[in-house]
Amino acid sequence: MQKVTAPGVIYRARDFFNKNLFEGKLSPIPIYLINQAPCTGGAFCYDSIRFDEQRIAFLRSEFSYGTRVSDYIMLAHELSHQWHDPEGGHSQGFIKTMEAIGLTYTPYGDHVIRGGAFEKWCEIWMGGRILAA
Ligand SMILES: [Zn+2]
Repeated sequence: MQKVTAPGVIYRARDFFNKNLFEGKLSPIPIYLINQAPCTGGAFCYDSIRFDEQRIAFLRSEFSYGTRVSDYIMLAHELSHQWHDPEGGHSQGFIKTMEAIGLTYTPYGDHVIRGGAFEKWCEIWMGGRILAA
């Protein structure tokens, strides 16, 4: 599987969201762009076979290099996995973590909760650009 390290803007966004949404408690983690499955969108992976590390992987075809809010929704989704339980999947606990940071999980795509923490901090991160509905 071809993979490259994600651009610096995504690492900086990760630090920003860690600080503002997760109390700065998440450990540093590698973030990669990959060209094909196993993940759709973003995927928190624990690859014990080759890398023996936790990592976040974004599918390159769905990634917009930090220009769209969808990148940050994916990032926050994966950070919620890291926060809650890396191997727990989309459990009730994971869903509660997502809601606590201002996102609603659905199997078909996550939604921003109006007035929630994610909306506030993502707007600040993106320079005040209004989030798409
Ligand atoms: Zn997930």
